[in-house]
Amino acid sequence: MSKPIIVALRRDFRLDDNPALYHAAEEGQVIPVYVLDESAAPPVQSASFWWLIQSLKSLSLRLADRGVSLILRRGQYAVVLANLAASIGAYSVFWNEGIFPGEKKQDEQLRHRLSQHSVPFRVFPANYSSVFGTVMTQQNTPYRLYSPFFQQVLSILREQTPRVLPAPGDIKGFGVIPSDSVRSWESDASLNSGKLALYWQPGEEHQRAHWQHFLETSVEQYDSRGTYDNERGSSKLSGALHFGEISIRRVMKDLVDHYDVLNGTRQVPPGIQTFFKQLMWREFSAYLLYHFPSLADTPADRDWISFPWRHAPKSLKSWQEGHSGYPIIDAGMRQLRQMGWIPNRIRMIVASFLVKDLLISWQEGAKWFRERLVDADEASNGVSWQWISGTGFDHIPFFRIYNPVTQSHKFDSTGDYIRMWIPELAKLPLSLLHAPWQAPRDVLESFGVHLGDNYPLRIVHHEHARQRALNSYAEWKKPATESGSD
Ligand SMILES: Cc1cc2nc3c(=O)[nH]c(=O)nc-3n(C[C@H](O)[C@H](O)[C@H](O)COP(=O)(O)OP(=O)(O)OC[C@H]3O[C@@H](n4cnc5c(N)ncnc54)[C@H](O)[C@@H]3O)c2cc1C
Repeated sequence: MSKPIIVALRRDFRLDDNPALYHAAEEGQVIPVYVLDESAAPPVQSASFWWLIQSLKSLSLRLADRGVSLILRRGQYAVVLANLAASIGAYSVFWNEGIFPGEKKQDEQLRHRLSQHSVPFRVFPANYSSVFGTVMTQQNTPYRLYSPFFQQVLSILREQTPRVLPAPGDIKGFGVIPSDSVRSWESDASLNSGKLALYWQPGEEHQRAHWQHFLETSVEQYDSRGTYDNERGSSKLSGALHFGEISIRRVMKDLVDHYDVLNGTRQVPPGIQTFFKQLMWREFSAYLLYHFPSLADTPADRDWISFPWRHAPKSLKSWQEGHSGYPIIDAGMRQLRQMGWIPNRIRMIVASFLVKDLLISWQEGAKWFRERLVDADEASNGVSWQWISGTGFDHIPFFRIYNPVTQSHKFDSTGDYIRMWIPELAKLPLSLLHAPWQAPRDVLESFGVHLGDNYPLRIVHHEHARQRALNSYAEWKKPATESGSD
């Protein structure tokens, strides 16, 4: 067969366990294509766009080593691919199924256009361990709560561990096809790029090695609640999983091979169980977005659309810039600016502060995270923000409001995390670090801290802010409660 197969890549930048690529390589000559479609790709100024570019560079080199060119094009996904397929007389187009709303739309449009051009296509399983369309409650409705979803997926996985495909042994490329250059795209990625490169090495090869190292040295100590200490303990796999540099099926298989993680009858170390459950939160978030496509920016509980969030641009900016006056919040937000990533527990604390202490809508927070996180993920981001805000299907109640000082003592008990990200507070003794405003001015100054000058005064008093949030909530709830529809 001489006609080539186009493999449309999207968030699956790897050779290992890439079903579309694997099967295409088995069947004929392969043209791997990535289409930069602004309607679904990360915005060019975002941190995750930087990751995307690095990932494409890395994949392009890996493919080039095998004599295959990665073709890059800009434009409308379905139009570009269908036109390319028609113009070169492609035998077929293969891709791994899209899950997010924009991706599903792209898939639908591509199917339609390919049919118009009479080009056959094949769609393979997505970057998740379960097939979302088939995981349903007994009433044949999508799960809305994590625990029953988790139990159901677990039993499916126990019956049949997902198949993991190796990297194709041999990939036959196809002639010369015009392509954009990744370097020209890279010049668009201006946000923080220099800084991000200090912390991250995107690409399958590095990320796979990183995962292996974590699996062999740290996963047993995993604790999703950690901050500084567990920055080392946490996997930092989120970027690689989001962009599909590592297949989640490969991760699951490794956990099964090393720890028999699916076998309920054997003693699995607690760290492994927790890690597995966190991976399943990723799965659950994507599952929810698959079934409820507006979750990334609309409250799952529609009543919340009328909640009176404050329009407070100055407070929002202070939060974004890490100038709230609460060291734990500022450390998290400065880490985000610098590194494009924050540990899970700190994400929860800074998110709660925005939504409850500042009473600013979770959508504002989600938007800032989308711009700044290297792992920005429509599903995990939207679902997590809704979880913390109380607006989701599965969530903590709005009236559970984290005290930033208590959280700081609890999750940064050594103060190392705050000291790392707020150097101007680094000399403060631990007893003053979590709430510097409680110390006399002259004591602070003896440690080089000048509140309101080199470190900000608090923008809100937590106790007042907490009461304001509770009052707003009670006031907003009133009519619904009175009419008995609560
Ligand atoms: C407000 C808020 C926003 C978030 N936004 C994102 C986002 O845009 N992208 C993103 O990938 N994660 C997001 N998370 C989830 C979580 O914080 C990150 O996945 C995690 O911190 C990434 O670091 P890690 O890879 O070291 O995670 P680990 O703690 O090592 O966990 C392993 C993997 O499990 C998955 N995971 C862990 N916790 C969660 C969770 N709560 N929800 C979904 N998946 C999870 C991730 O894929 C992660 O890589 C958000 C959490 C909060 C509270």
